[in-house]
Amino acid sequence: MRAVQFQGAGHPARIVEVPIPQAGPGQVLIRIGGAGVCHSDLHVLEEGLGFTGEFTMGHENAGWIAELGAGVTGFKEGDAVAVYGPWGCGYCHACQLSMENYCENWASLAGFGGGLGFDGGMAEYMLVPSTRLLVPLGNLAPVKAAPLSDAALTPYHAIKRALPYLTADASVVVLGLGGLGHMAVQLLRALAPVRVIAADIDPAKMEQAKRLGAHDVVHTGDANAAVEQIQKIVGARGAAFVLDCVGVQPTFNLGARLLGRNSVWTIAGLGGGHHDFHHGSTPYGCTMSTPYWGSRVELLEVIAMARNGHIHAEIAEFPLDQAVDVYEKLKAGQIKGRAVLVPGLK
Ligand SMILES: [Zn+2]
Ligand SMILES: [Zn+2]
Repeated sequence: MRAVQFQGAGHPARIVEVPIPQAGPGQVLIRIGGAGVCHSDLHVLEEGLGFTGEFTMGHENAGWIAELGAGVTGFKEGDAVAVYGPWGCGYCHACQLSMENYCENWASLAGFGGGLGFDGGMAEYMLVPSTRLLVPLGNLAPVKAAPLSDAALTPYHAIKRALPYLTADASVVVLGLGGLGHMAVQLLRALAPVRVIAADIDPAKMEQAKRLGAHDVVHTGDANAAVEQIQKIVGARGAAFVLDCVGVQPTFNLGARLLGRNSVWTIAGLGGGHHDFHHGSTPYGCTMSTPYWGSRVELLEVIAMARNGHIHAEIAEFPLDQAVDVYEKLKAGQIKGRAVLVPGLK
């Protein structure tokens, strides 16, 4: 089968021929219906993030069960499933709470998940080590569900942590309206009665965010003008929650200027920006955090929201063979919503 592989830091992804894996005891083989193309893949390819060796990329995966290993129960061949991305040890305190994204034993694991050290879903088939990492999709199409496993789960987890602050008189600023940001706008509208201000440098993404429920959209090309425009909306109180889906230095700098007192500042994007956190650097009572992905139970909730029509990923489908080109498009900011690689698509 064809697979899009990581072949060392600094090398572009390569499309290679590999054998179709077989499900061993307890394992499940998935026929991939879609694999989301995530911005963090660019960090994996360019910087390596500590990964060595070769593995198949793709950590936002969904498809149909093709083969059940010995002893596997609860699922049957042909079932549509999403694959939970961060694979923990499965038995520590965090994993028992389904928060494998915060597995205590992460340092001793051979990888972080499929597409992150282990073979992922940018291939025709993918091996999943346990059914605990699968979420049934019902009638939700795998190609639509794949991006939800990260692009929706990550902002969902961040928003849930901030929920006590998201009162009916609160304003929220979403910085960056790409894969995560376009989901964040919808999740905020579904989860809290807040005013949602969506900001980006791309008018097409702003227009999309407006259509998906943002109350206000702001162009951040000129930071001073953006701050002034947002301050007019949020007033003296400032933003109760700034969700930075980019995490580069300009969005850090912008976010810091928008926060109110007793607020939450969450950096979900891996853009490499930084903030010198100390008394006086942010308003009093501001909580800053850098959450990672989300829990298995939260993925169940995200999938339920999509099945119930509260959220959807806006996707652009590409054949698997175009992966290298799609990564270039993503890097150039030319993907609106989420790009999804689809095996068999011509
Ligand atoms: Zn990702
Ligand atoms: Zn664990």
